[in-house]
Amino acid sequence: MTELHCCQLTGFGQPLEVSTRPLPEPRGEEVLLRVTGAGVCHSDVHIAEGGYDLGQGRSLSFKERIRFPLTLGHETTGEVVALGSGAHGVAPGDQVLVYPWIGCGDCAVCRAGQENLCLSPDFIGVNRDGGYADHILVPSARHLVDIAGLDPVKAAPLPCSGLTTYSALRKFGPRLESVPTVVMGAGGLGLMALGLMQRMGAPGAIVVEPDAARRQAALEAGARAVVDPGAEAAAETIRQAADGEVLSVLDLVGNTASLTLALDLLGKGGQVVVVGLMGGDINLPIPYLPMRALTISGSYNGNLGELRELVDLVRKTGLPELPIERRPLHQAEASLEDLRAGRVVGRIVMTPEASE
Ligand SMILES: [Zn+2]
Ligand SMILES: [Zn+2]
Repeated sequence: MTELHCCQLTGFGQPLEVSTRPLPEPRGEEVLLRVTGAGVCHSDVHIAEGGYDLGQGRSLSFKERIRFPLTLGHETTGEVVALGSGAHGVAPGDQVLVYPWIGCGDCAVCRAGQENLCLSPDFIGVNRDGGYADHILVPSARHLVDIAGLDPVKAAPLPCSGLTTYSALRKFGPRLESVPTVVMGAGGLGLMALGLMQRMGAPGAIVVEPDAARRQAALEAGARAVVDPGAEAAAETIRQAADGEVLSVLDLVGNTASLTLALDLLGKGGQVVVVGLMGGDINLPIPYLPMRALTISGSYNGNLGELRELVDLVRKTGLPELPIERRPLHQAEASLEDLRAGRVVGRIVMTPEASE
């Protein structure tokens, strides 16, 4: 094979274009992978649209950060096919997961192992070409995690929805195992969170989700209760399901309604970890923060060390049983449309072989 097939974004608001380019040859530390799984994430919808809603008519634009054409895709598994002369640590045939949140490697944040928070990111599928392709060039084997023996399609969502929820859940500390957690949203992240919570020893989650099909999916994924936030006395129902007091909320929606409800629910000393990026703003009377001793935390992706921990965890306890729909690569645009319209339960993972 001498060609690379990919689905690229050529401008904000534009449909993805199927494109063919010469297959790159890895140089230096680079590694070339044949893609075995490419997860379709809601962030890809935001990237294709060009920004996030900040509320009150403001938005956070990707304009400065993205160069076109861009191959989307940051949830990628692959098989090593070729290595640059300076690459080591992997061999052709290895099954790997790509850590996409690559930083500059030089700054204090990167040196502390938090390159996902680097101010000069080189994120795969955002700042450089990603996995919506049959092959992907990764800058270094350092960013590859061995997944031998795991299903590469089921493992594909681990570096984004998996790592994002894992890193966010860890921010609750020992409380994760001692009190029930309220989870806002039962999309791909919500179902992943439920699967990981069981594996991390959490006592069960109360899931808040307006969509009936997603609530059902959450029950099947092990939620101890599901609540429609639009129903009458929803907050009271949630408190009852949490044995009377809510101390931990994982907000995977991140809009005005979800965070307002989260802050309303929290008891004294409670913590909300916000992951969702649906957008908007909140009006919070400041005295509530000290008087109720609230903690509002944000969590963004996760670091490479956490991804290795997560892969170890699923090796021991099994991959979370997330509903996964396999699609061929050329359905990338239709998949983004389905996500945008809220029609996806679980995760879509594209497999390039299916399109041949
Ligand atoms: Zn993502
Ligand atoms: Zn850096």
